[in-house]
Amino acid sequence: MSCDIGLYGLAVMGQNFALNMAEHGFKVVVCNRSPAKVDTTVERAKAEGDLPLIGKKDVKDFVAEIKKPRKIVILVQAGKPVDDTIAQLSEHMEAGDIIIDGGNEWFPNSVRRGEELAKKNMMFVGMGISGGEEGARKGPSLMPGGPKEAYDLLAPIITKCAAQVQGEACTGYLGPVGSGNYVKMVHNGIEYGDMQLIGECYDLLKNVAGMGNEEMSALFEEWNKGELESFLIEITAKILAKKDDLTDDGFVIDKILDKTGMKGTGRWTVQEAAEQSVAAPSIASALDSRYLSARKGEREAASSILQGPTELPPVDKEQLISDLRKALYCAKVTSYAQGLGIIRAASDKKEWGVDLGLCARMWRGGCIIRAQLLNKISDALNRDENLANLLVDPTFAKELNERHMSWRRVVSVGVASGIATPALSASLGYYDQYRRARLPANLIQGQRDFFGGHTYERTDREGVFHCLWDDTH
Ligand code: NAP
Repeated sequence: MSCDIGLYGLAVMGQNFALNMAEHGFKVVVCNRSPAKVDTTVERAKAEGDLPLIGKKDVKDFVAEIKKPRKIVILVQAGKPVDDTIAQLSEHMEAGDIIIDGGNEWFPNSVRRGEELAKKNMMFVGMGISGGEEGARKGPSLMPGGPKEAYDLLAPIITKCAAQVQGEACTGYLGPVGSGNYVKMVHNGIEYGDMQLIGECYDLLKNVAGMGNEEMSALFEEWNKGELESFLIEITAKILAKKDDLTDDGFVIDKILDKTGMKGTGRWTVQEAAEQSVAAPSIASALDSRYLSARKGEREAASSILQGPTELPPVDKEQLISDLRKALYCAKVTSYAQGLGIIRAASDKKEWGVDLGLCARMWRGGCIIRAQLLNKISDALNRDENLANLLVDPTFAKELNERHMSWRRVVSVGVASGIATPALSASLGYYDQYRRARLPANLIQGQRDFFGGHTYERTDREGVFHCLWDDTH
């Protein structure tokens, strides 16, 4: 019984997170369903600096190696494997011990597991981990939700192993069990939005501005030095410049099939946005675009049936490049505003008390959506934690007011050229709806009252009204 923490599940994430914890001086014991991965991890720990990590192939022996109250991080496939693993581990654990699931889990599953373990006086933490393989090894963003007592016991370990930005760990206590998975889920939804927005810029630069891969790569590299600085812009520059590794011909990007994969967190985010009655069109359009991309065969067939514009608009390349930079920034702010809105609505409803400023701070490093913009978002939420919407923060409002004409020109060029910009357009639609004091919803209320007697409110007096619209209604 000598180890500070145990880690069960040694695929990409588990193996790297175990080594990360060991590198920070914590004594780690690891275990996995298939024993071979235990050996690999122990060998890696030796090779990567004789790190304090031991392996156990039997679950009982694994649990017995951990100091009480025991802390065990699980990193196995989400869903049933997590339930199976908890069942196996908890057999050998006791009251006061903590299980931390680091997977991308549907949050109600974590809530249920927390309730089940609480009956045995054990604690359960659902902790979203972002940053992929590299983040897990070098410092991820860690999004824990669970009993505060469990968090306090874990904090000395996770605050050291998380990414560090400006002397602050990219982690913190988010709230009760479920909240950590929720914040990670929305993080992934925002990630979908960011990736789609960048994809649309690439499409316009390539197919409207006529730019080549190296020229675009240099542009993204340039963008990465300013207000758009982020991990996703940085890797986009690298991806575009990468020569094909299988042939001597051209770039990898031109050989990659245009069909997007996904694992479900983006869909959950959109489902939850609907559940919370929060508009999230930027994220939803990114999800829709993935669905459409997957229908490659249908699109190929449609490409010879349906027409695009027969006349193309005149395009000033330099103007388009300059406009795109501003449009991407505006749309990104809008998309983050939606994501944070989803978290706030759920947190209010479930009384989680999630601090949105903390979410922004813990996303600044280690994770896929890390971006300079998150510093500004965190500042905005520090100025006013009850900010109704990021868009009306004075700093963001000024930036949007200065840039929105570029955003409009970009969307217009896309429409006129027949190049879809679903996320840029949906984000602009959100902006234009949010900023208008009066929307055509009056007509929709009139229609609802006409056919269904649903009643409406009036602008000029209190009360609920029904109108006799014609002889039959
Ligand atoms: P993964 O491919 O999702 O899962 C593989 C691991 O699950 C292996 O250790 C496997 O054991 C174990 N496993 C599967 N079924 C099991 C069962 N019934 N009982 C016990 N163990 C079982 O691994 P991953 O990519 O490292 O991801 C782990 C978690 O982190 C997932 O929830 C994932 O969504 C999340 N995540 C992944 C990334 C990423 O970049 N990969 C990033 C963030 C979060 P065997 O070795 O015996 O097959």
